[in-house]
Amino acid sequence: MQDDDWLDLFENIMQFSDFSFHPQIQSAIRKAGFDKPTPIQERAIPVGLAGHDLIGTAQTGTGKTAAFVLPIIQRLLTDTSKLGRTRALIVTPTRELAEQINTTIRRFTAGTPIRSATVYGGVGMQPQDRALRTGVEIIVACPGRLLDHIDRGAASLNGVEMLVLDEADRMLDMGFLPSVKRILSYIPRQRQTMLFSATFAPELQQLASDSLRNPKRVDVATSAPTKTVAHALYPVSQHLKTKLLLKLLSTTDTNSVLIFTRTKHRANRVAEQIGRAGYNTAVLHSNKSQNQRQLALDNFRSGKVQILVATDIAARGIDVATISHVINYDIPDTADTYIHRIGRTGRAEREGDAMTLVTSEDNAMVRDIERVLKAPIERRTLQDFDYSAPAPVLNEFQREPRGQQFRQPRGGQPANRGQRPQGSQQPQRRAANSAPQRDGQRPKSSGDNATRRPNRSAVAAK
Ligand code: ADP
Ligand code: MG
Repeated sequence: MQDDDWLDLFENIMQFSDFSFHPQIQSAIRKAGFDKPTPIQERAIPVGLAGHDLIGTAQTGTGKTAAFVLPIIQRLLTDTSKLGRTRALIVTPTRELAEQINTTIRRFTAGTPIRSATVYGGVGMQPQDRALRTGVEIIVACPGRLLDHIDRGAASLNGVEMLVLDEADRMLDMGFLPSVKRILSYIPRQRQTMLFSATFAPELQQLASDSLRNPKRVDVATSAPTKTVAHALYPVSQHLKTKLLLKLLSTTDTNSVLIFTRTKHRANRVAEQIGRAGYNTAVLHSNKSQNQRQLALDNFRSGKVQILVATDIAARGIDVATISHVINYDIPDTADTYIHRIGRTGRAEREGDAMTLVTSEDNAMVRDIERVLKAPIERRTLQDFDYSAPAPVLNEFQREPRGQQFRQPRGGQPANRGQRPQGSQQPQRRAANSAPQRDGQRPKSSGDNATRRPNRSAVAAK
């Protein structure tokens, strides 16, 4: 496994056993049911093990977590003389991701002396404090809360040898760049840094050059969607979306469905409506408490809840292996977000379906998405569905006309280009603008979906 020629020769038949991991890691990999490394793992693990800095890009759901976690654990186990010191730090944008990464770590460190702790906002400081003071080898943290702990002297990072910046693109979206930079200033320069991202947008270049040294690039089909996902568009009038959704749910094998809406308000409303139709439903968005969010996820994972209705930020990176369908009740604002959303299904090569309800207003975005997919998406219409049912009286559930998209919001600040109007949420969002960004919460300056990044799809399509 020393040189690249070797890798090329055996690219398609590579086994985990080829990495010569510690026996305990090997047995944990077998227990996890991982047969062979995914493409990003195949190419990133050797770089990680060799101690090189790394930029790894691969879409959501392709196994990036194990790609950095396994080399870290291998290195910690190779030199156990430093047990009790924090030698690895993984920084990630949301609490859910921190928990998921930690679950992966625990899975692969079972039976070893390696310990890990998570650090994120929205829950008490004390338990995290205690965990940090006992000297864990790996910390998985969201930026803001980690800085709180550093400022209180609870987390000492001067022994960190391995740093991972996970979901780097999303960290930038969420406004974490200053926090991440400050964190970098507490970590020794002499270290290995691995940056992982679903996309490598130009904005990432600065963070990359601030944090990495002579990085190797491992790029696995950036912005190409999971192959097993079947995409379909369902053209419909705005006022018939919920009816069509219910029809789709009743005619599909709805084991485990993740539905995306544009706003929290819409998520609540949709969940309420399908709940009334008899489905076990939960909602995931950033207005929910950490406990509510965890409970929603746990119930969804265990199958207690069939349908999870979510906004983009809340669902970012969520890994639920059994998701059978993703339904975009509202089309996302960028083609990248579309790729991220449908990355929830068809994970690690399972079959999945991605259905998107579209109105005539969504045509431009559909074209963007098709450009990134490099293929047209099939349009489907449902038989025995009344597409011509008249609209009821206008309600707040309907989108404002696109023409108002670039208007001045009340209060005089210029609207961001490409940002959709948020109706009644506008004043509340403006009021929160001065508050600092908190971990796991959306950036105050954007809607409750992912941050709007106009033209990102054009970048990704090149
Ligand atoms: P990413 O970080 O790229 O979004 P994750 O690391 O969350 O992806 O992995 C997605 C899913 O794939 C997880 O359920 C994980 O357990 C599974 N997985 C990862 N690597 C493998 C593998 N080599 N074989 C089978 N499943 C895997
Ligand atoms: Mg990930």
